[in-house]
Parts: sequence; structure tokens; C-alpha cells
Amino acid sequence: MDGVVWNLWHGCHKKSEGCQHCYVYRRDAEFDKNPDEVRRTSLFNLPVRRTRQGEWKIPPGTLMWTCFTSDFFIEEADEWRAEAWQMMKLRGDLSFFIVTKRPERILQSLPDDWNDGYENVTICCTMENQRRVDERLPLFRSLPICHKSVICEPLLEPVDFRGGLAGWCEKVTVGGESGNDARVCDYDWVLDIRRQCEESGVSFFFKQTGARFRKDGRIYNIPRRLQMRQAKKSGISFKLE
Ligand code: SF4
Repeated sequence: MDGVVWNLWHGCHKKSEGCQHCYVYRRDAEFDKNPDEVRRTSLFNLPVRRTRQGEWKIPPGTLMWTCFTSDFFIEEADEWRAEAWQMMKLRGDLSFFIVTKRPERILQSLPDDWNDGYENVTICCTMENQRRVDERLPLFRSLPICHKSVICEPLLEPVDFRGGLAGWCEKVTVGGESGNDARVCDYDWVLDIRRQCEESGVSFFFKQTGARFRKDGRIYNIPRRLQMRQAKKSGISFKLE
């Protein structure tokens, strides 16, 4: 994964079915930490740190994977978020990529100067099953965000976007679940999302297979190091300009 991970706060609460085997919980359990405690991290101001020579430590053009050990829109972070937005605005030469399972909290959490969004910020909403597509897609689609996309990861069942992707969604990213207890992801579900993207004129990215991948009725156990490689090998991703 190219880019820099910016975990400005850490800790979360399980929100929906995709959270069942959340890696934040798995990792924190290993280190005897409480994953439900949301705290600001020492990397909070990473984008605006400078070298002794006065240059940005994070060089222009870098993609910042933002808040991957929490949810950027979680309640406990309300008091810190305004400063985070300011840093993103100041660093207009960086791209920020935010993933959330809390689209219902986005509108109230946007800064005053947001308008239709900061050009350098992409917000992605996770929709892991049909229930979450039906609940989150209409809401997320309606929000004033100039760059937004959908993530179906871990994909838990076939999903029907009900023709609701066209005209706003830049990309749909699909992936299976990783870890020892991973739930199965079926190639037919992936292909069906690809078909819906094609019909809607939306880019499609098959990111990774997950640890338990079913194809033609047979389940394959795929080691972590091969999950992205196998997805790439399928050659089914496509990008539209
Ligand atoms: S929203 Fe994300 S970080 Fe939070 S519990 Fe769910 S999967 Fe984990």
C-alpha cells in the first residue's frame, strides 16, 4: 500500500456486521489494551510536522490513509476533529483518504468552510451486506462530498445497490475478510458488484480475496501474503476516468 498511515486517534466501538473481527480489537487484545477507549495518538499532528530545515516531514503528493485504527467520525473525537480538518486544509498538497461506518455522523462533523468538500479529501463509506447498503447508501449519496466512494469489505453476502451508484460514486472497492475466523467471500458476489459498476459507469477495484475465498463452489484458504496478489491476478478491476 503506497502512502502513509495517519492514525490520529485510536480505539472504536463495533458498529455493524463487518466489525465482528475488527483488526483493531484483535491487535489491542494482543497488547492487553482496551480497544473501546478512544484516545488521541502521538501522531495527531503528523501532516504538519516539519524538519529542522523547515520543510514538511510528509512530502507533497503523499497519500494519507487517515484514521485506520478508529472511525474518523466517532463521537469521542468530536473535540479533536476541527483541528484535524484544519491540518487537511493546510496540507492541500496531500491527499487524505477516510473510511467510515458512520455516515449518519458526517454532516454534523463537517467544518464551516467545507462547502462541497475539500478537493484533497476522499470519504469512503463501508457497506458490507445488503442491510448496510440499504441503510447507508441513500444517506451517503446525499451528502455534500466532492470525492466519495464505497467499500464492500469484508463482503459478507451478495449486495444489490438498486441502481444507486451512478453519478456520485467514484469507485467501489471489494475485498474479503482476513484473520483466523474469516467469513467466506464468494467470487460470484464480487463479479456481481463488478457488473453493477460497469452498468453504472463507476470504477471497480477487487482489492483482496480475504482468507476464505469461494470460487465455483469450492472454498480456498488463502494466506495473507497472497490475498492481494490473487485478487490482482484475476484482472477484473477497472478504472474509469
Ligand atoms: S468501525 Fe472500523 S475500526 Fe471501528 S470497530 Fe468497526 S471495523 Fe473496527
